[in-house]
Amino acid sequence: MRLKGKVAIITGASRGIGEATAKKFAIEGAKLALVDVNKTEVERTSTMIQELGGESIALEGDVTDRQNVENIMEETVAQYGRIDIVVNNAGITNDAKLVKMTEAQWDSVINVNLKGVFNVAQEAAKVMIEQKSGVILNASSVVGLYGNFGQTNYAAAKWGVNGMTKSWAKELGKYGIRVNAIAPGFIATPMVEKMPEKIIDMMKEKSVLNCMGDPEDIANGYAFLASDEAKYITGTILSIDGGTVL
Ligand code: NAP
Repeated sequence: MRLKGKVAIITGASRGIGEATAKKFAIEGAKLALVDVNKTEVERTSTMIQELGGESIALEGDVTDRQNVENIMEETVAQYGRIDIVVNNAGITNDAKLVKMTEAQWDSVINVNLKGVFNVAQEAAKVMIEQKSGVILNASSVVGLYGNFGQTNYAAAKWGVNGMTKSWAKELGKYGIRVNAIAPGFIATPMVEKMPEKIIDMMKEKSVLNCMGDPEDIANGYAFLASDEAKYITGTILSIDGGTVL
């Protein structure tokens, strides 16, 4: 068990990559605080973890809301006494071509995918600095490496996540805190499954392996980066994309 006894907060944990990461971390022995805007669904994930023999609490919370984020940290520390790992996974899409993108579309994606990551990392870092240890893992994307048609807002947010990851690695290294990101390719989750079949086929073709990834492929990456096996890795954007960006 690579994460035995470690306390991990995972945002956007009710489905997709967040849910798969929760499962993987539980199998690796972590104690979980699972966060999502969707209370019923995050409680479902948490119950599933407990039924698998894992330790987990479900916290309803919106990463764009500072007060919610402060409460998440407080409730996690109250339950487990510390925070070892944060997986900043919550994210949304709200696509439109540049000239058609509304201010609301821009703001919604920047708020969740960029400001939400900042909010959670900033509050978690305060606890980790006191502990003099911790791991912060952020959700980037291939779109944060090579852009994408119709995703101005999403590309800007994920590029920002890459920049924050490297900046925080430089700031927090001296406190024993590692900061990394994963840039997934196209992964079969509800976020992608709601797209038209034509687009999904195009995505598959972009991978040199000619297929989409599974949420577990990303969860495995987070588990590795969270573990001591990655103790000398910080400031990295790890591509897990089937060779989509080469
Ligand atoms: P997903 O299936 O849509 O799951 C995202 C989860 O985040 C949902 O449960 C959602 O809740 C929750 N969420 C949304 N806004 C939130 C907020 N403000 N506060 C807390 N939770 C919130 O997404 P996914 O495909 O697993 O993606 C997870 C992460 O990986 C995202 O950051 C995404 O950008 C990134 N990523 C995904 C892919 C891919 O191909 N799937 C590729 C590259 C990067 P609701 O149920 O209310 O929506």
